[in-house]
Amino acid sequence: MPQRTATVVGGGIGGLAAAIALHRRGWHVEVLERAPRFTEIGAGISLWPNALRALEVLGLEDAVRAAGALDAAGGVRDRRGRWLSRTDNAELERRFGRPLVVLHRAELLRVLAGALPADSLRPGSEVTAVRDDGHGPVVEHRGGVSRPDLVVGADGLRSAVRRALWPDAAGPRYAGYTAWRAVTEPLTERPTQGAAIWGRGERFGYTLLPGGRMYCFGTASLPAGTACAPSEYDELLRRFGSWPDPVPALLAAVRPDAVLRHDLYELPPLPSFVHGRVALLGDAAHAMTPNLGQGACQALEDAVTLAHCLDGTPDPAAALRSYDLLRRPRTRAVARRSARLGTLGQLAWPPAALLRDTAARLTPVRVTLRSMTPVLGWTAPSGPVTATKNETP
Ligand code: FAD
Repeated sequence: MPQRTATVVGGGIGGLAAAIALHRRGWHVEVLERAPRFTEIGAGISLWPNALRALEVLGLEDAVRAAGALDAAGGVRDRRGRWLSRTDNAELERRFGRPLVVLHRAELLRVLAGALPADSLRPGSEVTAVRDDGHGPVVEHRGGVSRPDLVVGADGLRSAVRRALWPDAAGPRYAGYTAWRAVTEPLTERPTQGAAIWGRGERFGYTLLPGGRMYCFGTASLPAGTACAPSEYDELLRRFGSWPDPVPALLAAVRPDAVLRHDLYELPPLPSFVHGRVALLGDAAHAMTPNLGQGACQALEDAVTLAHCLDGTPDPAAALRSYDLLRRPRTRAVARRSARLGTLGQLAWPPAALLRDTAARLTPVRVTLRSMTPVLGWTAPSGPVTATKNETP
């Protein structure tokens, strides 16, 4: 068989992972990235056992784990700082074979981009049009025109590939709350474990990063696009500055210009992730709220599943249909579960928030962990493709 060619649109976590998975199976790949460099914004990312299993298939699990930090424990606290539930990374690893790893996004991108031949990475190559001319997919971009055997649309929430080939699909839907993220400067004294603190219509979380830093995030129920004056950092201080320790000390260790703010969106379900020889992957296919920390984990699962489906079959369109059958129900279920958790986390009415906190306090950790099995217990497909596994978290 002549070497098959793939154009991946978007060089984020999902696009790079897909390119690596295909490259390892002998495809000639190019990654067209709009930005001038392959890197990510200044925040952390949690990778759960399912993502580490996908990274193992890509041959990158050890490199990613070496770049990350392991919280010994974590859990949920209430607004007064009392523990509602505690989880233990050792227990997570015992149950799911892998721990939770948190790392800086730029580090993850560095590991992923480093696993591809330098000449396959094409920064500054914004894709302007994608179509099917009857012979196959055509991709127009700043550097020219590509006519590959396969196109992977991994260009994120506001995907140009999705808009071009799924023109009737509904656009992103605002989840009703916004998120701030920041990485602290290195701390001489820092907490030994992370936590999420649930308030009323607000949440604040923190977790360890390598190099003595912490990754912090906050959420608040606000109309989309609400401007925060005089700055996002001031807004963080105003909302969370008097929350239980260690929140004030963490905020004091954040540089005001290091605060990122993003309104949170999810994508209404698509009727299919594939169109001929074009497949959507990651946020372009199923952007979800970050409450489960699963968006990128699902993109990694997508990548290895896509390459597996394409393995050894001469008919990419048939392989893509299998990919769609495997990935659409699963990612839909994970997205729904994440949205439900967000609704609970953002409860603002005091009696409802109290009920939520009481339920969390009374639920044994083993029950919480067991309930995560459909999400975290994913295993990479092997052998002939079937669409019966891993579909219903
Ligand atoms: P993106 O990261 O959006 O990458 C798309 C790429 O395509 C970008 O590099 C972009 O520049 C490029 N691009 C766009 N348009 C074009 C074009 N026309 N031509 C060429 N290139 C283009 N997930 C987790 O697993 N764990 C977490 O802890 C976690 N925390 C999160 C916290 C927050 C607050 C948010 C908002 C999300 C979080 N997520 C988390 C979700 C995760 O960030 C996303 O699911 C993941 O980054 C999606 O990766 P992607 O490659 O599909 O898309």
